[in-house]
Amino acid sequence: MNPQSARNGFKGHVLIIGGGIGGNSLALFLHQVGISSTVYEAYAYKDAVGGGLGLAPNGMNVLAALGLAEEVKARGTLNVENCFYNERGRVLARYKNGTVKQYGQPGVSLTRASLHDILTEAAKKQGIQIEYQKRLQNVTDNGNKVIAHFEDGTQAEGDLLIGADGIHSKTRQVVFPEAPKPAYVGIIGVGGFVPAADVPPMSLREKQSFCFTFGPNGFFGYCGGDKGDMMWWSNMQREKELTPQQLADLSLDNLKQEMLTTYAGYHEPIQTLIRNTTTPFKINVSDILSLSTWHKGRVTLIGDAAHAVSPNAGQGASMALEDAMLLGKLLGQSANYEQVFEQFEQARKPRVERIVAEGRRRGDDKLVVTPLQSKIREVMLMIFMNLFGEKGQDWLYSYKVS
Ligand SMILES: Cc1cc2nc3c(=O)[nH]c(=O)nc-3n(C[C@H](O)[C@H](O)[C@H](O)COP(=O)(O)OP(=O)(O)OC[C@H]3O[C@@H](n4cnc5c(N)ncnc54)[C@H](O)[C@@H]3O)c2cc1C
Repeated sequence: MNPQSARNGFKGHVLIIGGGIGGNSLALFLHQVGISSTVYEAYAYKDAVGGGLGLAPNGMNVLAALGLAEEVKARGTLNVENCFYNERGRVLARYKNGTVKQYGQPGVSLTRASLHDILTEAAKKQGIQIEYQKRLQNVTDNGNKVIAHFEDGTQAEGDLLIGADGIHSKTRQVVFPEAPKPAYVGIIGVGGFVPAADVPPMSLREKQSFCFTFGPNGFFGYCGGDKGDMMWWSNMQREKELTPQQLADLSLDNLKQEMLTTYAGYHEPIQTLIRNTTTPFKINVSDILSLSTWHKGRVTLIGDAAHAVSPNAGQGASMALEDAMLLGKLLGQSANYEQVFEQFEQARKPRVERIVAEGRRRGDDKLVVTPLQSKIREVMLMIFMNLFGEKGQDWLYSYKVS
């Protein structure tokens, strides 16, 4: 703990709604500056922990500040390169996914479950209280304290409440009822995990690459995931988002069959990855381009609750981590929470909104197209990714929370 921060910083107790990536990391950063918090998570521990994700060097730098980067690297796979293929497996473009020399940390891919596990265990080790099966229902303010009301009829009182409850944030719904709802972007995100032993032998270079294949039938991505596993992700185009029941009804066999048909003729290991998937994931992909404000009174939003970015940007977890680090730092420096919330929003909004827009654009690039459009896209990828791919990621990766 920084004693200077402890003297000048915020003194009260913080309620954190949502024990995901942003919520747990915020609790850890608050702990670093001597601020107490309790995390309230809707699910039981280890329920609903999700798919796979790539942590970009900027997100890894935040984990390094928590002393967790080495563990993340040990559990996941380094992402050393980005490699673009056409459907026949021809390499269209290849460039470094940043270097440790440039950015301090490499990119790493792993399951969200592993990252969640690492953050949760770290929080528990610091004695941070995490209460499970506490689903927020409402938020009130009695003038001196903010009160979180949970669906089980219990409530908790604190000095600040941080909504880190993800894209479908209840905090956002009840505190900012006028805020836009997440917008479905026209694709169902699907993917899965496969033991590396069940895939044709691959070079280390390929395993440590984000492999992006573009063809007329759409996009397919794969890379190493948790140690010893591969992970893949792709899209199913659907005009309307699926209801929770429809998503649940999309069985592993049906999902695999649709993917095998869509990507018939695409290069290996794509068919093998689909065929050997045992653990699938499937979600409606949504984002929120902009909220007019993130804070009101004793409440602010962070992570996907404030700025939901589609998975296509590959930055959602890294953005939640950056938010947590900055908010923790600012609250450690000033007791004036309203000023801190404003400063936090001003500092973060331009960056995250640019990334949300980038995520939407990248999603549009992955749609099903005609063979001619696919050829044109190939040429564009060859030219632009080879020329500008590496340079184009610098603004994302070089960011440091200060
Ligand atoms: C398929 C997929 C692939 C992705 N790929 C990437 C990637 O490659 N790189 C990347 O950086 N990001 C990726 N992301 C995004 C990333 O997972 C999120 O952006 C990130 O987890 C956001 O963190 P968060 O803490 O804001 O929200 P979350 O991690 O979603 O956490 C929110 C938490 O709040 C809890 N909660 C919800 N409602 C309530 C309630 N009412 N009361 C209490 N608790 C509640 C939830 O259970 C959850 O634990 C991907 C996301 C998906 C879905």
